[in-house]
Amino acid sequence: LKQTVENFKKELTKRNIQVSYQRIKVLEYLMAKRIHPTAEQIFNDLHKEIPTLSRATVYNILKVLVKAKLVRVITIEGNETRYDIDTENHGHFKCTCCGAIYDFGVNMDSFIPDELKEFQIDDKDLYIKGICPACLLKKQQ
Ligand SMILES: [Zn+2]
Ligand SMILES: [Zn+2]
Repeated sequence: LKQTVENFKKELTKRNIQVSYQRIKVLEYLMAKRIHPTAEQIFNDLHKEIPTLSRATVYNILKVLVKAKLVRVITIEGNETRYDIDTENHGHFKCTCCGAIYDFGVNMDSFIPDELKEFQIDDKDLYIKGICPACLLKKQQ
């Protein structure tokens, strides 16, 4: 599915979720900023544009979108909940230097360790930590 506002509107309607201006704004933000933002980041940025938007509303919208499986929650660092518009299976690389999170493709479907053959798997995440090329370059200078 191509990620466009029009498609998201259709997906919301299909799930009987009201297409509100603020919900679309949050989806647009997540589409434009592939930085895996926290709810706070989303609120801080969108609040500048929509002064009437409250923090509670942002949390609420995210909850609705996650439940509708249009947005995925990712937890990279223990208590840090981030949001990802890319709901396809993919891995995340976190740069411990600048904090940026990069997506990478990985075939998660074929990844089931023998030890987990008899388990029901609900979610698969792959996190890798390290230093991104931009930070490595800075370190060399
Ligand atoms: Zn970095
Ligand atoms: Zn991602």
